[in-house]
Amino acid sequence: MRPYNFSAGPAVLPESVLRTAQQDMLDYNGTGFSVMEMSHRSDMFHSILYHAEQDLRQLLAIPSNYKVLFLQGGASAHFTQIALNFANGFKRIDSVVTGNWSGIAHSQMGKLSDVKVHLAAHGGDLYHYNDLPPASQWDISPDSAFVHYVINETVHGLQYRDIPQLGKDAPPVICDMSSEILSRRINVADFGVIYAGAQKNVGPSGATIVIIREDLLGRCSERVPNVWNYQKHIEKDGMYNTPATYPIYMAGLVFRWLQTQGGVAQMEKINTLKAQTLYDAIDGSGGFYRNPIQPQARSYMNVIFTTGDKTLDERFIEQAAVRGLMFLRGYPVLGGMRASIYNAMPLAGVEALVAFMAGFQRRYG
Ligand SMILES: *Cc1c(COP(=O)(O)O)cnc(C)c1O
Repeated sequence: MRPYNFSAGPAVLPESVLRTAQQDMLDYNGTGFSVMEMSHRSDMFHSILYHAEQDLRQLLAIPSNYKVLFLQGGASAHFTQIALNFANGFKRIDSVVTGNWSGIAHSQMGKLSDVKVHLAAHGGDLYHYNDLPPASQWDISPDSAFVHYVINETVHGLQYRDIPQLGKDAPPVICDMSSEILSRRINVADFGVIYAGAQKNVGPSGATIVIIREDLLGRCSERVPNVWNYQKHIEKDGMYNTPATYPIYMAGLVFRWLQTQGGVAQMEKINTLKAQTLYDAIDGSGGFYRNPIQPQARSYMNVIFTTGDKTLDERFIEQAAVRGLMFLRGYPVLGGMRASIYNAMPLAGVEALVAFMAGFQRRYG
């Protein structure tokens, strides 16, 4: 059996997807070539890209007035790119900071443009990152280009369990969904733009999903270099330059796997069970394990916890690894442990972790 991989990203992939990729490695579909060796302009790759997009549209029920792109640069590139494209002609962006990634996004969004990045709410100042500011606390202006937030903070283990709802007059919402896309049902129409790096919940690193409401593309200016210009990518059907062909192929395999699992609704059920199993173990440990986050803001994807003792945490991480429970070390600035339990982590993996936690507590509690 392979070890359980709790990495935050690049992260676990479904074993059946890896096996399919292995079978296809030397000879994709009778072509005699690996997907890696194919021209992105070939019919074979066109078909891979087309089906990946169609399957993603089906899984997320993406309305027809939204465009889908698989771009490069990771989510980090899009922190700035969204502003370059969608703040053109505006004076202000409203940015919600709720943890590590939205903090970085906030710092990068205004680069290369004159737009003011207004801090709409700061979850660190308000709640020490133990809770999330609800939309009613966001200071937003109807004249802003857009509101940006990160729905699941991968490092801080925070997630908007209730999707923030803004009024009709609010600017479009742009959301970084890197570490939760396809983990639960969402209403795409709540968002102007959704973007997500693939390597958390979708596939290998290298591809970034960008879903854009059509009317916003009118904002993309000719002044933005083509390779960073979403409208130019749309005009070329996602082929303005060479896309990350192999990561897109892998993402396509994951989308098909999700369909065979019963789609996003079924994932949501299993993910809820996995998260509850793990949080119950933490909360039921009599204080041996701790998670500081308010229940309504706890991430179902990245579960952070600590014993409160650095040496003991280190021992936990080492002993877990010996039992095949890998990559449980928390993000450097936070320390402690973090279990990332994305779609491809089976319930059995969480159960194995919970059993290990109980045994560890008996030995050291
Ligand atoms: C990992 C992550 C990023 C950064 O992704 P890169 O692909 O490294 O640019 C951004 N936002 C969130 C929420 C993430 O989890």
